[in-house]
Amino acid sequence: MTAQKVARPAAVAHPNGSAQPKPKISIVIPLYNEEESIPHLYEALVEAIAHYGQPAEVIIVDDGSKDRSFALLKEIAQRDPRFIIIRFRRNFGQTAAFAAGFAKARGEVAITMDADLQNDPMDIPLLMAKVEEGYDIVSGWRKNRQDRYWDRKLPSMLANRLISNVTDVRLHDYGCSLKAYRTEVLKHVHLYGELHRFIPALASQVGATVTEVPVNHRARQYGSSKYGISRTIRVMLDLINVWFLGSYSTRPIHVFGTLGLASAGIGILLGIYLSFLKIFLAQSIGNRPLLLLAVLLVVIGVQLVTMGLLAEMITRTYYESQDKPIYIVREIVNGDWEESV
Ligand code: UDP
Ligand code: MG
Repeated sequence: MTAQKVARPAAVAHPNGSAQPKPKISIVIPLYNEEESIPHLYEALVEAIAHYGQPAEVIIVDDGSKDRSFALLKEIAQRDPRFIIIRFRRNFGQTAAFAAGFAKARGEVAITMDADLQNDPMDIPLLMAKVEEGYDIVSGWRKNRQDRYWDRKLPSMLANRLISNVTDVRLHDYGCSLKAYRTEVLKHVHLYGELHRFIPALASQVGATVTEVPVNHRARQYGSSKYGISRTIRVMLDLINVWFLGSYSTRPIHVFGTLGLASAGIGILLGIYLSFLKIFLAQSIGNRPLLLLAVLLVVIGVQLVTMGLLAEMITRTYYESQDKPIYIVREIVNGDWEESV
């Protein structure tokens, strides 16, 4: 990501001539087919920024909308230089939209939210108070969530429990878009697929501190939700991915190897038992299902260990080809930064 290495100017000139001060916060909003919400969103943002009282920029990422969204956004940006619009060529998804917004964010803190006004931009000072306390990430918690129970709130509650347990970053509401991130920690978070829901967990893996505050939540007034119940399965698969990358990506042999040795070990013990029956008690073992199981376990075990070794090689290629360190330095006292990072 070369974009992060480019020195960021303190002030940028807008096409309409006004120079913008370096913002304190960058509000990042993915947007896909939300034409009805846009005028209300604009008003709410302007009011919330005035209420917050610090310089702010708003980065809206139009994720390939097919309605009039882009035209409306462009018109806003021409009027108000605090608004930056990024337009994707097609619908790349919410994660990609967040990544594009983060890459462009100049503020110290990036605040994310939905374009559909389900989040309340007036909650920004609430999040920022926690950031000022020293947290790197502050997650909104829709304590009083205004969505249907069976297909939205219940699966979300179960998923949050599971994600909290597996990643050890305990949040009530991973799915809430309203969150604040210090942009400095986002540099170390690489987003793929639909991993935006896991940013707090991914950031915690690179040493970020995470907390949450209850925020306002409203029912969607315009347009419709872009997701259905089918996302539950994708969230589960992503969770396995995040868990594996977080705990074992620099030592995959420990996962595959442990499973492999356990499997092969049990297989070998069963094999010894069957051999004993055959050799010393002269029993026939050729027709026993246990024999099949023993062979299967040994074969699977060998395969898992081999897979672990292959994964070790891939890990080395991943880190060494990019000169990636396997650690992240927060700061160095009395030392040369360039040489150490
Ligand atoms: N969104 C997007 N690209 C997509 C799907 C959604 O940019 O492919 C945006 C959408 O416009 C909204 C936010 O992501 O601003 C969250 O989507 P939605 O409100 O449909 O999700 P829900 O709140 O129902 O979970
Ligand atoms: Mg929504």
